[in-house]
Parts: sequence; C-alpha cells; structure tokens
Amino acid sequence: MSDSLPLGACIGILGGGQLGRMLSVAASRLGLRCHIYDPAPNPPAGHVAERVTTAAWDDAEALRGFAASVDVITYEFENIPTATLDLLDSLRPVRPGRKALAVSQDRMTEKDFLSGLGLTTAPYRDVPDAAALRVGLDEIGTPAILKTRRLGYDGKGQARIMDPSQAEAAFAGMAGQEAILEGFVEFTHEISVIAARGVTGEVACYDPGENVHVEGILRTTTLPATLTPSQQMDAVLLAGRILNALEYVGVMGVELFVTAKGLVVNEIAPRVHNSGHWTQAGCAVDQFEQHIRAVAGWPLGNGARHVDVVMENLIGADMDRVPALARAADVQLHLYGKGEARPGRKMGHVNRIVRG
Ligand code: ATP
Ligand code: MG
Repeated sequence: MSDSLPLGACIGILGGGQLGRMLSVAASRLGLRCHIYDPAPNPPAGHVAERVTTAAWDDAEALRGFAASVDVITYEFENIPTATLDLLDSLRPVRPGRKALAVSQDRMTEKDFLSGLGLTTAPYRDVPDAAALRVGLDEIGTPAILKTRRLGYDGKGQARIMDPSQAEAAFAGMAGQEAILEGFVEFTHEISVIAARGVTGEVACYDPGENVHVEGILRTTTLPATLTPSQQMDAVLLAGRILNALEYVGVMGVELFVTAKGLVVNEIAPRVHNSGHWTQAGCAVDQFEQHIRAVAGWPLGNGARHVDVVMENLIGADMDRVPALARAADVQLHLYGKGEARPGRKMGHVNRIVRG
C-alpha cells in the first residue's frame, strides 16, 4: 500500500490526556513514534511519547513546527478549534478528516447528519433563544434535556427539564451558549459500538458493549451486552453506514440507546472511546492499536472478542482501591499518571476478565 507509513514514522496527536497516552503506547508497540500537542503542561500522554509540544491552539508557529515533525495528524478529542484544523490540514493529512469533526463538534449538525442517513435519534429542536425553547417543549414534551450544542462531555452542559416551569432556569444555565433540546429517550439500556475504517475503506467493528453511567460519567462497560442477535447486527451495520458516509479513517465510538422500538443513536465520537477500553483485554488488536493502524494506513485487526470483560473506570477517590486491585486475579490495571485524584476525574480503569 502506497499510503501506509513506514516503521519509524511519526504520528502527531492533538491532546495529551489518557486517550493520547494509550494511543502513543500502541504506536510505539508498532515501531512508530508520537509527538503530542497539548496546551496544558505535563500531559499524561507526554510521559510515554517521544516529543511533546506545549502551546496554545492558536499558536501558528508551534502548530507549523509540530506539523513539520510528523507524517500524519490525529486527535484524542473532537473539540479542536476550526482555525487550528485549517492550518494543520493544509500541512499534513488529518485523520479522521474534517467531515467527521464538523459533524461531531455540534450536536445539531450531528443529529441532522444521523437523521439524514435514515437513523433514529431522539426528537430534537434547535434552541437559539428562550422562545424557541418554549415552542420546542410544546412540540417535544417533557421530560426533555437541554444541551449546549458544542463542547459538552461527561454530561456537562446539560439540564434536564421535567416540567415546562423549569425551562427558564435551564435556558439561563446555558449562559448564552447555543443549545439543542432533546426529547428524553425511554431506553432499557445504553450500548456503544467501537468501529474502525481503514484508508482502503475496509471496516472492522468490535462487539457492542453495555454502558452504565453514574452522574453523567461512564462507570462500567460490560461485554457481552444484553442484545438479541438482530439488535447486535443492527448496531454494527449502522456503525458501518456512519463510517462510510463520512469516508472515515480511524476508530469511532457510536453511542446507542436500546429501546423497545429499536436502536436510537445518541452521539458519535470521532476517536477512540472510553467504552472501548475493554478491547485491551478482550481482543488481539485493541482500539488504540486499531486507530493507529488506520491512521497509519496499515491493515486493520479484525475486532474479534476472545473473552468476556467488564471495564470499570477509576474516578477520583477510586484510586484508594488501587492496592487491592493490584492484588486481584484477572484484573488488568491501567493508570493514567495524573497527579491529583479530584472528584469526577478519570484516573485509570480496570479490565476484569470474566471466565465463564
Ligand atoms: P459523554 O462525554 O459521556 O459521551 P456527553 O456529555 O457527550 O457525555 P451525552 O452522551 O449526550 O453527553 O449524555 C450523557 C448521558 O446522559 C447519556 O449517556 C445518557 O445516559 C443520558 N442522556 C443523554 N441524552 C439523553 C436523551 N435524549 N434521552 C435519555 N437520556 C439521555
Ligand atoms: Mg455521550
């Protein structure tokens, strides 16, 4: 393949959190090098990468230097400013490409894209002002969720509206940011599909995992998920359609609600995903290696799962459990090298292998 990176090539990663860290480890196992770009000093990924640039997203000189030092650019989070991408994109291939980023950076664009593909989403309305929220609530009903269109993560920037009387307070909570109103989906459980597409268009999907969130943050992912064979196939097929429509290169996380009427797409993440960490213990090629293979133009791993796994995030004070977890059998421990175990901060995770 003419498009594949040779051994020793360098992958630039925008963002140096735990996802960038695990991508960098995967790249080094394949004989590739990584250069991390992050505005914050001492990013977790920097501990395991060949180079780190600490500079702002609008530092054109630093961005040019970064691009000149790498062969391809990828990212661990989707909220990279457009001007940053414009510059980088003109200098080196950015994978996954602009289309995927544009769609996933804005919940409104994302919902329009997904429903345009004929997929089911929650009912939604654009909320540019308080009047639009009143109309939206009339049409969609309650309960509903008001979310910022951009920059939300771990359930941040969201307000539940149980009754129209709460509309005003919810709107004020958006603090002037553009918002979207979503009808509340009555789901039985939540799943996600981690899927990959290579430069030649080949697609590989991992088995769907079942996700439990606590206080808006992912707590556990369990494999296998509770799904009928048809639901499992539906999940994988719809992920493939999304990847094709975006001419995607890399790993994507597709979050789904399971309802009595079928699968509803919640959101897509154009990157490796927390709910895919189980692949480190469950598959020969995990999501991080898969992403590196894709962006480097290498062949993909097949995604087959060889064992049942429960992934549990270690959040904040969960770090106190590390000594016991280190002694436990069948537990694969991953720690991110972050300093302070603040409440709500993802510090690590464990993959517990379940023997049947
Ligand atoms: P993350 O970073 O964890 O993906 P996020 O901030 O992007 O989160 P969402 O995925 O939109 O936010 O929502 C977080 C969680 O809130 C969902 O996993 C789900 O449990 C619940 N939720 C969000 N939207 C809806 C909805 N329309 N109906 C029912 N529940 C919802
Ligand atoms: Mg989500």
